[in-house]
Parts: sequence; C-alpha cells; structure tokens
Amino acid sequence: MTTGLIFDVKRYAIHDGPGIRTTVFFKGCPLACRWCHNPESQQAAPELVFRRNRCIACRACLDACVRGAISWSEGGPETDVSKCARCGCCAAVCWAEARQIAGRETTVEEVIAEVERDAAFYERSGGGVTFSGGEPLAQIEFLDALLRASRSRGIHTALDTCGLAPWDAIERIRHNVDLFLYDLKIMDDSKHREMTGESNERILENLRSLSRLGHEIRVRIPIIPGVNDNDDSLRAIGAFVSSLNSIPGIDILPYNRMGADKYARLNRPYGLPDIRDLSDERMAGIALMLGLFGLRVKIGG
Ligand code: SF4
Ligand code: SF4
Repeated sequence: MTTGLIFDVKRYAIHDGPGIRTTVFFKGCPLACRWCHNPESQQAAPELVFRRNRCIACRACLDACVRGAISWSEGGPETDVSKCARCGCCAAVCWAEARQIAGRETTVEEVIAEVERDAAFYERSGGGVTFSGGEPLAQIEFLDALLRASRSRGIHTALDTCGLAPWDAIERIRHNVDLFLYDLKIMDDSKHREMTGESNERILENLRSLSRLGHEIRVRIPIIPGVNDNDDSLRAIGAFVSSLNSIPGIDILPYNRMGADKYARLNRPYGLPDIRDLSDERMAGIALMLGLFGLRVKIGG
C-alpha cells in the first residue's frame, strides 16, 4: 500500500487551476522560502501547532504529555520542542483545538476517496484535483500513484510545483499531469539561494524542458516586496518566461502577511519580519510591465 504525508485537503478550491477543485497539500519541501505562507508545509514530518489565542488554560495538555515537554507559565502552556515527540496526545485532549498536529500519513485510496466526493462539481465546472504542498515531487511514489488513480477515473490533474526535483521524477509523472502550476520566484541565482536556501538552476532547467516538451504550464510568481518586486527582477522573469513555449499565461500572486502568525504557532521565527503588503496599484503596474513581454497576466491564482 503506497502512503504519503499530507497536511491538508481543501475542497471547493478555485485558485489552484481551472474550475472547482480539491487541493491535496503534501508535507515537505526542498526549498525554505523566507516568506512561505504555509510554513507547516516545509518539514517532511508531523509538527505540533499551538494557537495561543484559542487556549482556555484548562491544563489538560500538561497531564497528557508523558514526556514532560509541556510546562506552565504566566502565559499558559509552554512546549519544549526538543522534548516533544509529536505524538499528538496533548492535541487529543485539547477540546479547544489550541493544539493540533500538522501532517498525517495517509494512503492513496483514502485521498482518492476524498477527491472523488466532488466528481460532479469537477464535471460541471471543468475542475479536478490539484496536488500542491510543500512539494509533491518530493514524495514521488505517492504522487505517481495518486496521479495514475486520478487519471484512471477521468479526473483532471494539476501539479503545483516549485520545480526543484530530479528530472527523472518529473519524467516519471509528466504524462499524467494535465496542467503544471510552476512557481518561479527569482532569476538571480545568488538572491535565490539567499531567499530560498537553494540554487534556481535545476528549477529553470526543468521548466525549459517541460516547455520544450509542450506541456501545458501556468507560471506562478509570488510577488514579494523587497525581494522580487523591483523592475530589474520583474524584467528578468518576463524575458525568461516569454522565451518559453506552451505558457498560456502567468499568475502573479500578491504577498500577504497572513502566513506570519503561523510561524508563531510553530514556535519558529518569521524570515521577513519587516515586509509590507503590496498595494493593488502596484500589482496592476507589475501586471502591465509583464504584459509588455507578450504574456497574459492574471493577478491572483
Ligand atoms: S489542553 Fe488546550 S486549551 Fe487546555 S491548556 Fe492545553 S492548550 Fe490550552
Ligand atoms: S505532541 Fe506529545 S510529546 Fe509533544 S507536547 Fe504533545 S503530548 Fe507532549
């Protein structure tokens, strides 16, 4: 039985490809983007999430933790992550749902059963299933099995990827992907390393190869203030994408700070604490500039 680690399944998604979709979020990513708005997607292991604002100070978690990872302070429960085994015992007794475990091991059959629940909506809206993350290509056995199972049921498939994977992995699954949603962040390699922890060389090469092979691809660019929203960076992206084939359009995704709170819940520092939101006017200006490269640009996913 093929299994994989996911952290969420979102039904009725309308920003992850055409029509109404179910999006399956894989856990684990080879990049560590400083602005990541889904930090719970990054580690390839379950994690404890604590929402302090939901805590009603009942102390049930204190008794539930046999590892002594939880202590009590004036502000309520504190967790020593070095002692936490992510067993979920504290989450099980926390009826206020202040404590939860992000990430669960699941089977292909379980995921497909959930995806199939909305088959009628996919048919009517031209939707389907989107595999997102995290990075689905990092769990290639699981992804391959899910794509095959979706295809055999006639469900449209989209893969939302950061593109950092061996070509062998992409080669293995590409014929079962109807649409690639391909994230592109920064063209300058040293800046890419600084902001994501990895080089962009393989990411660009994989995108070139998919494009050469004629796959349908929507390039998605998160616009991050102070990182890639300057004119030089945008022109470099525009020139690169416009040189490719089979790119019907690009989506520019405005940065928002909604993910910042999630870092506190995971007991992690936020990588870009002083970042500001982007105005609608600036996003419209960026769309215009990229449009000058002959690209069809959409704001939002
Ligand atoms: S069990 Fe939940 S609500 Fe109760 S003290 Fe612990 S975190 Fe707070
Ligand atoms: S997940 Fe388990 S080990 Fe970690 S704090 Fe909760 S009960 Fe303790």
